[in-house]
Amino acid sequence: MNCFLNLSRSVQRPNGLLRSLKQIRSASVLADNDQLPDTHQMLRKTCAEFAANELKPIAHDIDKEKRYPTEQVKKMGDLGLMGMDIPEQYSGAGMDYLAYAIAMEEISRGCASAGVIMSAHNSLYLGPIKAWGNDAQLEQYVKPFTGGTKVGCFALSEPGNGSDAGAASTTARLDGDHWVLNGTKAWITNSYEASATVVFATTDKAQKHKGISAFIVPMPTPGLTLGKKEDKLGIKASSTANLIFEDCRIPKENLLGEPGFGFKIAMTTLDAGRIGIGAQGLGIAQASLDCAIAYAKDRQAFGSPINKLQAVQFKLSDMACRIEASRLLVWRAARLKDAGHNFIKEAAMAKLFASETATYAAHQAMQVLGGMGYVSDMPAERHYRDARITEIYEGTSEIQRLVIAGRLLKEYD
Ligand SMILES: Cc1cc2nc3c(=O)[nH]c(=O)nc-3n(C[C@H](O)[C@H](O)[C@H](O)COP(=O)(O)OP(=O)(O)OC[C@H]3O[C@@H](n4cnc5c(N)ncnc54)[C@H](O)[C@@H]3O)c2cc1C
Repeated sequence: MNCFLNLSRSVQRPNGLLRSLKQIRSASVLADNDQLPDTHQMLRKTCAEFAANELKPIAHDIDKEKRYPTEQVKKMGDLGLMGMDIPEQYSGAGMDYLAYAIAMEEISRGCASAGVIMSAHNSLYLGPIKAWGNDAQLEQYVKPFTGGTKVGCFALSEPGNGSDAGAASTTARLDGDHWVLNGTKAWITNSYEASATVVFATTDKAQKHKGISAFIVPMPTPGLTLGKKEDKLGIKASSTANLIFEDCRIPKENLLGEPGFGFKIAMTTLDAGRIGIGAQGLGIAQASLDCAIAYAKDRQAFGSPINKLQAVQFKLSDMACRIEASRLLVWRAARLKDAGHNFIKEAAMAKLFASETATYAAHQAMQVLGGMGYVSDMPAERHYRDARITEIYEGTSEIQRLVIAGRLLKEYD
């Protein structure tokens, strides 16, 4: 799929967006935050327009109704957003991670649920298959998954372990030409809509985390059932549920990578995924600031708009500074990844800071709105609920601090 052609069909834009893909791939060499190439600027504008026109108007309702935005996800697929860094050969948009981070921010600014649907699909499902899959797996489990009609999920966490992912109790044993999976995976995003999942299971218990392997499981498949949909605080339009494997048989060739590579596949997937969650946090934070500024301009108190009050201005300034710092961190991590450098520490920093900024900005926005911040007539209340998860999934803030400290201390050895 050529996403640029798709973009050009849906939105009027200068020719800049149609410039060569090479330009997008070379974005990582740019040092200046404000100097995005034309292609990335146009992508940002297109995603911002899409989010404002297609996502923001429905975000309240789909949150209330806990409804997956099928039509909008399809449109995101048409724009190339559901296979962003997948090569065109496999129907992807062939863009880089900086482009992904930019798009994730804008989509999440319009609707954080759409953001997590997009991030779980792009970085957690497509990401590991792109990195570790063979041609046949890419043909079967990537190519049909870039158009927005089929989404995937990623099943690592279990009821008994989340942060401690190496303690997986789900098992896979080889039986003739099939792997037989047993166990329960917990909290799986996109589970109710998914047409396939990447799942992690122990194939050799004695090897501990080195005995975990990764598999691709089509959905539905006999022996795999879904638990009840979790009743969440936020991101309610995305589904989250257990995946229950009971003698679930999958073909031998659905092993992803080599036996015992599962933990490595999971950790490298999460390293990249954290850039996406950082960008999601950034989008929620920006939406909170948008909402606070618009309200403060209109709301009168003591004879003038509250945006004239220094106490309110200070809140807006602090939000804006943290948002800008988060954006720099997210973009820097993405650029390092695109340039082929190690980005583990920077991705953890970006996720940690941007997610805590999302919570901070949503909290401050609610304060600026006063009572109107506390009711669902205004989006501040939703941003406040949506922000919180960014500090938990794909590694809690505590785990990010462990990752950062581990890398930091090594640098001083
Ligand atoms: C809405 C939602 C969607 C999710 N989507 C997915 C998904 O698609 N796929 C998937 O596999 N998982 C998913 N998860 C799971 C998520 O990644 C885990 O919830 C998260 O990693 C934390 O694991 P846990 O809930 O088991 O908490 P625990 O690991 O039990 O942690 C509890 C507390 O202890 C702290 N803690 C744990 N270990 C340490 C340590 N070593 N040092 C310091 N503090 C520590 C944690 O930071 C946390 O504060 C999702 C979760 C939610 C809520």
